[in-house]
Amino acid sequence: MSAARGPATQPADGGDRARAARPVTGGDRSGVPAVEVRDLHVRLDGTPILAGVDLTVAPGEWVTVIGPNGAGKSTLLRAVGGLLPAPGAVSLFGTPSEALRRRDRARVVATVAQSPVVPAGMSVFDYVLLGRTPYIAPLGRESAADLAAAYEVLDGLDLAGFHDRELATLSGGERQRVFLARALAQGATLLLLDEPISALDIGHQQEVLELVDRLRREHGLTVLATMHDLSIAGEYADRMVLLADGRVVAAGTPREVLTEQLLATWYRATVRVIPGARGPLVVPVRPHPPPPPR
Ligand code: ADP
Ligand code: MG
Repeated sequence: MSAARGPATQPADGGDRARAARPVTGGDRSGVPAVEVRDLHVRLDGTPILAGVDLTVAPGEWVTVIGPNGAGKSTLLRAVGGLLPAPGAVSLFGTPSEALRRRDRARVVATVAQSPVVPAGMSVFDYVLLGRTPYIAPLGRESAADLAAAYEVLDGLDLAGFHDRELATLSGGERQRVFLARALAQGATLLLLDEPISALDIGHQQEVLELVDRLRREHGLTVLATMHDLSIAGEYADRMVLLADGRVVAAGTPREVLTEQLLATWYRATVRVIPGARGPLVVPVRPHPPPPPR
């Protein structure tokens, strides 16, 4: 059993399905990056959105992309996830992205989009089961292993009581955990998380990020995320990439990227950066204190 497999791929019945659940190009082959982006250019409707982006994520690493609204973070994740054409620019575990067939790519990389489309009338359980699609033959039915994988991630995300609920009736935070459950059920080694905690209260933010981090450590998952909360981003990321105007303008450890100067330059934000136990803590402060009351 590969250490790189996600927990959701634990087969209940072994055999062919167990083999099929293994990511085809995943794994910790030394020296081969999980994600390699070289000179990525993306134009959308004629507008340049990404202009020469380089990015490398090692297997098992957690890299978080930060940057102001409209910087191109979601576009970058979409290109890495194969949702946008990026010929020659993206390799996943050493394989050029365009050489991966759709089903094969889905076993390697799972994406939680910033605003996923919620299918009308679908139950939580059926939605999470959609994550098993890459393992189910066309016109075939899900196996006991697929059902077990869906149950396991729902339990792990504290969603056991929600199986039969219609997805559309959940709160924003509950729904966000279901989106993550679907991605985990997919059993891919690479998780792309686009603002996975923006709809969550701080308790659920920590719960979700701790779970992702535990899965990363226990199962060798690689995480590429975007996040707006810079303090939380710095607590979890091994490295951060600051994107602005479609370019990488800073990259390094959270201490190297979360500086008052860089955040002032690229976010036009006035902040205090306080050393934390793990990453720096970023506190926004008013640029011009109001005059004292008369
Ligand atoms: P971020 O996630 O950093 O906020 P996005 O990657 O979503 O940024 O978007 C980057 C830029 O690309 C934004 O200015 C956005 O308006 C623009 N953009 C996104 N989709 C399209 C599109 N289909 N056509 C033109 N511009 C787009
Ligand atoms: Mg975005």
